[in-house]
Amino acid sequence: MKFVRMVILLGLVAFALGSLRHRAESQIPNQLATRTKVVLLGTGTPVPDPDRSGPATAIVVGDSAYLVDFGPGVVRRAKAGVLDRDITALEPANLKVAFVTHLHSDHTAGYPDLILTGWTAGRRTPLEVYGPTGLQSMTEHILQAYRIDIETRTNPGGDQRGNPEGWKVNAHEIKSGVIYKDANVTVTAFLTKHAMESYGYRFDTPDRSIVISGDTSPTEETIKACNGCDVLIHEVRTLELFSKLPEERRSFGAKNHTTSEQLAALATKAKPGLLIAYHAWIAAGPSVLPTGEQPVLLTTGAFHSSPDVLQHEMALRYSGHFVIGRDLDVY
Ligand SMILES: [Zn+2]
Ligand SMILES: [Zn+2]
Repeated sequence: MKFVRMVILLGLVAFALGSLRHRAESQIPNQLATRTKVVLLGTGTPVPDPDRSGPATAIVVGDSAYLVDFGPGVVRRAKAGVLDRDITALEPANLKVAFVTHLHSDHTAGYPDLILTGWTAGRRTPLEVYGPTGLQSMTEHILQAYRIDIETRTNPGGDQRGNPEGWKVNAHEIKSGVIYKDANVTVTAFLTKHAMESYGYRFDTPDRSIVISGDTSPTEETIKACNGCDVLIHEVRTLELFSKLPEERRSFGAKNHTTSEQLAALATKAKPGLLIAYHAWIAAGPSVLPTGEQPVLLTTGAFHSSPDVLQHEMALRYSGHFVIGRDLDVY
């Protein structure tokens, strides 16, 4: 009798566990739909590599998208996110909030595109942009440069006369600390070490914490900002590249960027759930040389290592979960 009762009890427990598992599985589609996504819009460098757009990353929470940096190609990569990855939050008209890590051209050359293409694609409210000192002046000068376009489109015969506000920008110059908060995210800026005033950003959403470095040499601030975060997106250069650069570029890199060895040490302390390398000087094929530069021949051509070299250098030194970001990867 005891045995029969035991069998019944075990059966009930198994049934209960089974239904729990079933419930968890049935919730997955819903959870995936609302889960915060990191979309790598551009993982490239200043070199005009057609496979890797200028630095730009989107944090997508539900229907809202938040950009970090707007390198060249940003709006077209966002539209590719809609068409190829089914992320409708990345519709150009829906790009309303952006954070810029610093004002180097490779991170900001897509700014007029973001302002003006977003407007003509249907954004009706001013773009909200956050970044370092100089952002307001850059914004004013871009709007001044496009004055004739804006006037022509908004005048009585213009194609945007029904949307007269969408070209406007509210540029917010920031300091470190919490700089933005809405129902989806809290964004905290922290100082990084680069050639000019520069910030990294931490995003806290209902389900994830995400830290993005921008351009920087390794800093304690980045380690503190992550401190076990879910995702750390960090710039990197291979040791191979670093060792072969001409002296002038090597000393600039040592002050302002991060090697694979340094990133491995930093991430070992910061302990992210996932480390994504971006803005890495890697290329699958020979790269396009800036005019007048002496080529530095690496595994794939001038100034770039192959992704395999970066993978190898990191795997030797870092035991955590690590990926090399490519354009339009979603995490
Ligand atoms: Zn830079
Ligand atoms: Zn850069």
